[in-house]
Amino acid sequence: MYDDMINEMEKELKKSGISRRDALKLLGVGGAFFLTKDELNAASKLQASDVKAKIVIVGGGLAGISTAARLTSSLSSPDITIIEPNSKSVTYQPGNTFIGAGIYSKEDVIYETKNFIPSGVNFIADKAVDFDPINNNLTISSGEKISYDYLIVTAGVVLDFAKIKGLEEIGDIYTAKDSAKLNQIFKNSGASSIYNVDGAVITWENMQKTMENAKNGQKQNAIFSHPDTAIKCGGAPKKIMYLMNARLNEVSKKARENVDMTFYANSSKMFSVKEYEEAIIKQYKERNMNYNLNHNLIEVNLKEKTATFDKFWDVKGEYDPDIEEYTMIKKHKFVEVPYDFLHISPPMKAAPEIGDSEIGSARGWVPVNKETLQHVKYPNIFSLGDIAAVPLGKTGGSVRKQYKVVVENIISLMEGKELEAKYGGYTVCPIITDIGKVMLAEFDYTMKPTPSFPLDPTQERYIWWLLKYYILKPMTQYGMLSGKA
Ligand SMILES: Cc1cc2nc3c(=O)[nH]c(=O)nc-3n(C[C@H](O)[C@H](O)[C@H](O)COP(=O)(O)OP(=O)(O)OC[C@H]3O[C@@H](n4cnc5c(N)ncnc54)[C@H](O)[C@@H]3O)c2cc1C
Repeated sequence: MYDDMINEMEKELKKSGISRRDALKLLGVGGAFFLTKDELNAASKLQASDVKAKIVIVGGGLAGISTAARLTSSLSSPDITIIEPNSKSVTYQPGNTFIGAGIYSKEDVIYETKNFIPSGVNFIADKAVDFDPINNNLTISSGEKISYDYLIVTAGVVLDFAKIKGLEEIGDIYTAKDSAKLNQIFKNSGASSIYNVDGAVITWENMQKTMENAKNGQKQNAIFSHPDTAIKCGGAPKKIMYLMNARLNEVSKKARENVDMTFYANSSKMFSVKEYEEAIIKQYKERNMNYNLNHNLIEVNLKEKTATFDKFWDVKGEYDPDIEEYTMIKKHKFVEVPYDFLHISPPMKAAPEIGDSEIGSARGWVPVNKETLQHVKYPNIFSLGDIAAVPLGKTGGSVRKQYKVVVENIISLMEGKELEAKYGGYTVCPIITDIGKVMLAEFDYTMKPTPSFPLDPTQERYIWWLLKYYILKPMTQYGMLSGKA
């Protein structure tokens, strides 16, 4: 099947005037998958360093395991320990969006963590709960102290459902774990979230009910939220809306017309990069999908099926003639919206045992230099992935750039050299705009599009659907998690 897909992909690339050779050079995103086994091995023959030190990694998800794998092949005598409490931590999270629209099932995204732990790496199936960076040690739930020479923090984010009134009982949960309460609370409620794997399954059940009702002539209201915190994959809340639009269109034109679809963005923009925002607004208009800016979801009444948003805007206050500026005053109004289908993108935060610890920042993330990814206070600590306090980049695509930077810099530090590797903020968001169409939104700290191909990045294309649907998962599993891509 993959051979067919590669041929298909090449055909599409050729149509766009791009040869396979060019694609290999240009396609940072899926390139590793195009490589043969020998090419991949050659690409991964790193110059192993003889420096020795004990490296502890907190969090064995995408960033933690990719980093451990690359360190293993970059050191001649690696001494690496991963601390991770979840036996199924390497879930392919981007697949949740597909689960939510009935394209993947849960089994397509969940793996046994142990199958991905690089050989020779020690694995502690527990949680880090306390940090003593002055004495270079941390404590795990069992009470055992673990010492390190270098610490890498890759503990991702926690979904903070408790911040939304009415959902307090769900509490803090992870994307791939702790779904019992979420299942119980969201089941048959019309509300759910693809940010949790089981939540994604419920999203698809809810979507099918809405489709059925719309098919039977009932008017339906579908609403989608985006919270007031940093979130992983900022495009996912919109992707699920585009996919619902596509699914409804598959049922019938009439069914689609029966569903009013509205996105509630918490900010004053639909996307942080102007070029992609303009494209999204155009796509929304073409699809008769509505959006409201400056709305933050603060309450859900699951019984009454209403969602309350804090709508906010600025008004001019007093004028300061000396600096020739008005003071801006924030105004708020609560807006209650009835729904039949609600997709919630919950607020997110770092796990409190890390964000609020000695190694956390005042705002609860792990503060690092945004380029070297070295901790701002403790030079022997690095952080990457969703938990790192960098201005951009809570995506797997960012991790793909970051883990190489961390490995290079940590080895430089061990060798007494300057830290030269830099992360430029690269992030990628394949915005699924339809079944069979994706706009590949790539950008970095410059906040300008940084396309890997010389193609207009604001266009929705079938070729990016092929990349998203067929290539990114094996690229993540076999490329990144083995430290090679
Ligand atoms: C719905 C959805 C769609 C997405 N779509 C895309 C996409 O299209 N493209 C893209 O690039 N990215 C996408 N992402 C984002 C991507 O999956 C994440 O950015 C990526 O998984 C981050 O990796 P990480 O290692 O930082 O976090 P994770 O992979 O979440 O791993 C963090 C690990 O840390 C562990 N942990 C937590 N606390 C502790 C502790 N105290 N001690 C030890 N371990 C701990 C957790 O159990 C977890 O296993 C999507 C994510 C979601 C949810």
